[in-house]
Amino acid sequence: MPSDAWLATDLELSRASYYAATAGHAPSFAPLPGPTSCDVAVVGGGLTGLSAAIELRQRGFDVVLLEAREIGSGASGRNGGQAIHGLACDQAVIESQLGLADARRVWDLSIEALDLLRQRIAVHRIECDWQEGYLGVACSPSKGRSLTAWADRIEAVYGYPLARIGPGEMRQWVDSARFHSGIHDPRSGHLHPLKYTQGLARVAAAQGVRIHAGTPVRALAQGAAPVLRTDAGEVRARQVLLAGNLYLRGIAPKLEPRIMPVGTYIGCSEALDPVLAASLVPSRSAVCDTNFVLDYFRPTPDHRMLYGGRVSYSTATPRDLAESMRARMVRTFPQLAACRIEYAWGGFVDITMNRAPDFGRLPAVGGHAANVYYLQGFSGHGLAFSGLAGRVVAEAMAGDAGRFDIFARLRHRTFPGGARLRTPALVLAMAWYRLRDMLA
Ligand SMILES: Cc1cc2nc3c(=O)[nH]c(=O)nc-3n(C[C@H](O)[C@H](O)[C@H](O)COP(=O)(O)OP(=O)(O)OC[C@H]3O[C@@H](n4cnc5c(N)ncnc54)[C@H](O)[C@@H]3O)c2cc1C
Repeated sequence: MPSDAWLATDLELSRASYYAATAGHAPSFAPLPGPTSCDVAVVGGGLTGLSAAIELRQRGFDVVLLEAREIGSGASGRNGGQAIHGLACDQAVIESQLGLADARRVWDLSIEALDLLRQRIAVHRIECDWQEGYLGVACSPSKGRSLTAWADRIEAVYGYPLARIGPGEMRQWVDSARFHSGIHDPRSGHLHPLKYTQGLARVAAAQGVRIHAGTPVRALAQGAAPVLRTDAGEVRARQVLLAGNLYLRGIAPKLEPRIMPVGTYIGCSEALDPVLAASLVPSRSAVCDTNFVLDYFRPTPDHRMLYGGRVSYSTATPRDLAESMRARMVRTFPQLAACRIEYAWGGFVDITMNRAPDFGRLPAVGGHAANVYYLQGFSGHGLAFSGLAGRVVAEAMAGDAGRFDIFARLRHRTFPGGARLRTPALVLAMAWYRLRDMLA
């Protein structure tokens, strides 16, 4: 399959979501009317670009944000809604590259990301159904032992407390026979991601960020004053931020093979009987298992079960998506066997080879300082962390790159096969990981 075939179905997958049906009135932003200039031009109207724009504006920058489609139409408006501590990769990956002291700083930044998210919701009164609580659950005794060992280390080395849930009490937390044991984190939680993303866009616009939707950036010309080319004219800036996730489409070709689109899918049940709904996850926490190919789910405020899982490394949308998500949900909760899936959708996660985020600057062309920054590779764990990424890139653009450069030091490899053949190569690798989950 050509590497970008997934793009054809991408918007369709997003529009089918529970979020699109329930977000209410979306803020609208006109396309860029003609050429302009600014201090910082941001490409991408998802959580990363919006967070950076807000932080830059708070530091006094004149900011233009360009979004090809609608605000939140990428991963940000359709994800699982789970805001969780840490990164997608294990801390061991960070420790091995940066050493323990900087790995501790990275962990602390992931916790600051959660605090920032909650703070923004409270300060700006963003109505996005925030619910605190996260459960990490293990599907077998051996995975339970690994989860406990991981939690012990996170507590001992990173000073972050996590409650342990033993086999005897697991059913009180999740009413399913599938899970052996788990951990609970009250500081993580979940929300309606499209309402949150649109809320951030309203905040950014109110603070003076000039947001233009329906404005694809066709080309980037690097230089002392980088230029973004759009259909309506150029945007000339002192600095540029690329926050386009998997959708940049050739404007920075060196970044593309460092991330790979992996499809992940979600089904949302019809509204359940409130008593049944409340019994499934009584704490109302978000839940995620520890398998490599994982299941993640959470209750919604209107008594539905929102159930994510299955991945498509081939990027082809699974056939009969709603039924396959229903089967997955019923495998965990047989008591939902008679329930209908009302919404089924999916999206593409930007995974890096080592699952660590990929932040940096494009090498400068000419003698001037590097002035094009990028933030990508959240690897399916960017709901909260993209907010923090926006903050550290704003710090760097304002002259204090201390925190940004911790991430810029992380080494990333490109996917074998480059931009075109990376997908088939990964399909083979993932078949092995799936088998490993089944055998564990
Ligand atoms: C199905 C799914 C489930 C997920 N579940 C979770 C979860 O539960 N918890 C979690 O932490 N993370 C989750 N994630 C990951 C999380 O959603 C992302 O890490 C995060 O939203 C990334 O935000 P972003 O702003 O970088 O990218 P996006 O939201 O994709 O935004 C990028 C934007 O840039 C625009 N753009 C790109 N190129 C251009 C261009 N040339 N010109 C103009 N605009 C451009 C795009 O149109 C897009 O709107 C999930 C992702 C998916 C797809």
